[in-house]
Amino acid sequence: MHLYINGEWLGAEGRKTQSVLNPATGESLGDLPHASTADLTLALASAQAAFPKWRETSALVRANILRKAAQLIRERSESIATIMSLEQGKTLSEARIEVAVSADIFEWSADEGRRAYGRLIPTREPGWRQSVIKEPIGVVAAFTPWNFPAMLPARKIAGSLGAGCTCIIKPSEETPASALELARALHDAGLPPGVLNVVFGVPGEVSEFLVKSPIVRKVTFTGSVPVGRHIAGLAAAGVKPATLELGGHAPVLVFDDMAIERVAKLAAINKFRNAGQVCISPTRFFVQRQAYASFVEHFAKAAASLKVGAGIDPDSQMGPLVNERRVAAMRAIVSDAQSLGAEVVTGGSAPDHAGFFYQPTVLTELNEQCRALHEEPFGPIALIMPFDDEDEAIARANALPFGLAAYAFTSNADRVMRLENRIESGMLGVNTFAIASAETPFGGVKDSGYGSEGGMEGVEAYMNTKFVAQAPA
Ligand code: NAD
Repeated sequence: MHLYINGEWLGAEGRKTQSVLNPATGESLGDLPHASTADLTLALASAQAAFPKWRETSALVRANILRKAAQLIRERSESIATIMSLEQGKTLSEARIEVAVSADIFEWSADEGRRAYGRLIPTREPGWRQSVIKEPIGVVAAFTPWNFPAMLPARKIAGSLGAGCTCIIKPSEETPASALELARALHDAGLPPGVLNVVFGVPGEVSEFLVKSPIVRKVTFTGSVPVGRHIAGLAAAGVKPATLELGGHAPVLVFDDMAIERVAKLAAINKFRNAGQVCISPTRFFVQRQAYASFVEHFAKAAASLKVGAGIDPDSQMGPLVNERRVAAMRAIVSDAQSLGAEVVTGGSAPDHAGFFYQPTVLTELNEQCRALHEEPFGPIALIMPFDDEDEAIARANALPFGLAAYAFTSNADRVMRLENRIESGMLGVNTFAIASAETPFGGVKDSGYGSEGGMEGVEAYMNTKFVAQAPA
């Protein structure tokens, strides 16, 4: 594993290192070098030096490099997916999908960069010209977590490069190799040195160094709310725009006008994707009382039938959690809920063997005060509660400070319109959990952050708007 700075791969020589673990076994996969202060200074200088040239490079040529990288990512899908499954734990089939989605994001951002249209505004005087121009912001500092170790870096790398910015990214030290494979694809596709730099280190130290540097003009972070708040503060002190994609605690409103068994099975598949370590993971299930018992029964049956094992085992349907911290967090959340009277319908414990596993878990009879209902579990825990009427369900869905994803299942068109208007979230899935793609905006409101990734917004986020007024000479 390496750092990638100024177009060069830098190994452990003389640098601090940290071990990267396989979460299915707890064993080391290799050593990751940490960037020294000199390395970070070089990354900043090379991103700064590369910016004027990359910005002047035509959007078409930039797009061709991103598209070529996307093609290489697709060609290397099997090896990247294996690396991802080993370091993150997710199943191979999920990892393959993530690789394909990452390539999609590269292609979308490549082309969106070519559509960075400005506009002409009618003038008040004859002979004048008023133009609006889109310009790349400059050097970007990006920080990504471990749950989607290729897709989340892809959003930030492709969005910023497609817009004409240069980028320094610090992916998670727990899952570094997937992001390095994206960098390798760009390197092999002919990306000029310095346009992308990949660094690792002590997260708080690296982010403080980069965000405080006057060279950095835009900050983008995906991760937890407390860290996001801290990074946003650093960005604000330097008057730098920030995009923050923070946690969620997605509500799911299930009305009794749907085929409940089908919805319950679909919900269970989506809950336990990536072992629940997904910021848009459906978590608080509010089910209309008439349908409640049936929903719990079918959901729990689907959860209990999942085959849990190492992600690279083709039979596994759910892998381990990413690290021991997550397993400890699941134990604490479940024991707190139980102490307040919750019923564990299925799961509720960690198997007694190596690796960071936790069983798919369904909790009911939840006390409003329990931690699970307030803190993002970020793991394989589903919380199922009955409700009596629509107003109550909406109020409970909106009750938390989070506002990332929300879902509703109903066949009543009038109700859908009311939910669209009243649910406080950045994204709403109606009769589906599929709310993320390269071409659609992804982002939250309230404590879940601000700004969007994906869609036209995902490239626009790396651009400034300049207005030019021109009078006759
Ligand atoms: P954490 O907040 O310690 O770390 C989350 C990510 O942020 C990691 O990749 C970490 O390297 C990075 N990070 C931490 N401090 C940083 C700093 N000062 N500067 C820059 N980067 C920093 O959390 P964790 O223990 O890894 O995960 C726990 C919680 O984080 C979860 O419960 C979940 O709420 C949240 N999380 C959210 C997402 C998401 O997609 N929104 C992803 C991962 C974790």
